[in-house]
Amino acid sequence: MNRSTPLAWGREADVGTSMHDPKRSDESRTRRREAPTQGEICGDAERGEESKDKERRGGLRTGSTLQMKSASANSNIYAAMAAPPTAFENHLERWIFRHRIESVVSVEFRPKDSDLVLERLLFLSDVDVPEGSPEYHQMDDDSRASMLSTGVVAGENEQQVFVLTCAHSLKQVYNLHHPIDVADLADLYAPWIMCDHRELMFLARQDNERVSIEANISRLDIPNDLLLIEVNKANFTAYCNRPHPPVIFSSEFPSRFATVVMLSWPLRRHRTAVRGNISHSQRNIDDLAEENPEGLATVLSEVDITSDKGSSGAPLFDGLGKGIGLLYGGDGKFSYVIPTHVIRQCLLNWGWQYHG
Ligand SMILES: [Zn+2]
Repeated sequence: MNRSTPLAWGREADVGTSMHDPKRSDESRTRRREAPTQGEICGDAERGEESKDKERRGGLRTGSTLQMKSASANSNIYAAMAAPPTAFENHLERWIFRHRIESVVSVEFRPKDSDLVLERLLFLSDVDVPEGSPEYHQMDDDSRASMLSTGVVAGENEQQVFVLTCAHSLKQVYNLHHPIDVADLADLYAPWIMCDHRELMFLARQDNERVSIEANISRLDIPNDLLLIEVNKANFTAYCNRPHPPVIFSSEFPSRFATVVMLSWPLRRHRTAVRGNISHSQRNIDDLAEENPEGLATVLSEVDITSDKGSSGAPLFDGLGKGIGLLYGGDGKFSYVIPTHVIRQCLLNWGWQYHG
């Protein structure tokens, strides 16, 4: 592993990438028309999964139909060959995608008070930063920036819906020697949640702009890099009345070679769906990176899939559709995941009553 490669996928949103910025939205739409993303392909943007399944049951695909018309003499042969079942159709992966994508959300952490954030950045700086210096201007920019991650709906009660994501998206305001408590972090940033349904509405031009909903930082565990967000349930229902079923995290981590699916939402690329295999169940952070500035204390599981900035917090699923981890980061060849037993223990510590 290249130790000079950053491991954690913290993503800083470009200044001005507010979800309500119409200029950026137009650019995004243009780009999408030119080049559909992997997620759109996996998400069956052109045809629904149901219709494809019906075609398979009917035994013919569109291309095969045309072929038969020009070869009627051999129609029985073509009919027999028309729709061979293959190992490449990935029924299980697509089932997981269909049943879990509604639980995946985009999280944008917006500064509540950039002056407070700047004050914190100056406090954490190792060196004196004079006002007006280039370093000061850089910090001033950083204090206004939004941070992005992927989140997953992990629970709910009568009043709240809970979204789980990684903490290190906000690592610029804490470090090993100066950790931050949840109340102070909640004073600095507000998480804004966008769900898959509203992104689809935006892409279908039913929404004129990307619409997200404000939530609150609820719990924080820096050593395990986990952050819990609570969304008022009534507000969430008013924002989107479609289902966002909580993901159950498995009591068992898959063995090596097991296939897993990751659903992530890097910047403007929702529905990014990838499949990979477990290559190691627990690596120590000391074996992965020379430095550990945030004081990560959890083991990380290794998966042979690639990942991108803004994907931190993306859920990984086993073949039963249960959560088995959240993406921490990657080195370009492998991705590293906070494993399910760490997540479950953390939720228990937060008072979660976990069944299943
Ligand atoms: Zn929704």
